[in-house]
Amino acid sequence: MTTCEAEGKPVVDDAVVDDARVIERLTVRKVIAPLPKPHKTASGTVEAAPLVLLDIMTRDGVTGSSYLFVYTPMMLEPVASLLRAFGEIITAEIAEPGDITAQLSAKCRLVGNQGATGMSISAIDMALWDNKARATGQPLASCLGFSTRPVRVYDSLGQMSPDETAREVEQSLEAGFRCFKVKAGHENLATDVAVVRAIRAVAGDDCWIAMDFNQAFTPAESIARMQRLDGESVAWIEEPARAEDHYGHADVRRAIKTPVQTGENWWGIADMRHALAVGASDHVMPDLMKIGGVTGWQSAAALAMAEAKPVSSHLFCEYSVHLMTATPTALMLEWLDVAGIVNGNQPTISEGYAIPAPGDGAGLVWDESTIARYLVA
Ligand SMILES: [Mg+2]
Repeated sequence: MTTCEAEGKPVVDDAVVDDARVIERLTVRKVIAPLPKPHKTASGTVEAAPLVLLDIMTRDGVTGSSYLFVYTPMMLEPVASLLRAFGEIITAEIAEPGDITAQLSAKCRLVGNQGATGMSISAIDMALWDNKARATGQPLASCLGFSTRPVRVYDSLGQMSPDETAREVEQSLEAGFRCFKVKAGHENLATDVAVVRAIRAVAGDDCWIAMDFNQAFTPAESIARMQRLDGESVAWIEEPARAEDHYGHADVRRAIKTPVQTGENWWGIADMRHALAVGASDHVMPDLMKIGGVTGWQSAAALAMAEAKPVSSHLFCEYSVHLMTATPTALMLEWLDVAGIVNGNQPTISEGYAIPAPGDGAGLVWDESTIARYLVA
């Protein structure tokens, strides 16, 4: 098969088309799913997850599913609308994720791969990979050529007082977590230090802890803060500067001892390459819906391996637990379960590891009664 990028459409010999594997239809739904508790960061609080749910059915009756976390309810309809428009383009095409992603990317070459465009292409890519894995009767990791296995996981906690953090870590330990990330960047820097120490008081002195500034500071402000936090043996400081400020992150990285983590806001592999080329990060944590879905993740994993960068995931824990097994330099799965309420088949947590949910594909099984309850017209 070849791809004619000028027209953004695969050129396929009709003789090799498997009619059963042709895309029959896309179903797009919008929900606002409440989180078990509000998730506070240095850049705002998330109380409910606006999600766009996507199902792609092929002519053989197989359905592949994915979702997007669009951060704000005002993005629900624009993204849903774009997915429906993409659906008109790809209906009746062969459901091969790499081909479809290339086709849609070519169509959007002049628009670019950021924002709703990139997210929507990623959602389609993910749902098609899920469909492909289900059609062949195997988990997503197996479909990618890797065995499913438990993956090291950390619980991603919000910004709280030291006492609140300690209480939450106690519950988290009971739930099977052994590693933690906290949203730092409190107004009073001493509180950031106290939060880290409160976790160690509950979970042990050698407990793995990462911190996230969520882009709240300038590079100079972050450097000043981290010079105080550098002695706390934190595994990484995440997004200590604005996400797009790769040079600022490089400045922070040179000035502090704690490793720098970025990547959740890289739009595609070119953004990742640029960030790494200027020395912006010690670690990488691509986000599935921004890096280009499963297909984009595979490229990111290859680039990270070539650059010897540890890879951790961002959100999308059901999908990412499969992708981390397919990542040679995998380090940590992030557990921030924004879609758990609509998925009746979540991975399980035990002794610091996430175990993929049983079943084919990424394991998503929509909880239809919950979806009906939180559906947005
Ligand atoms: Mg983050």
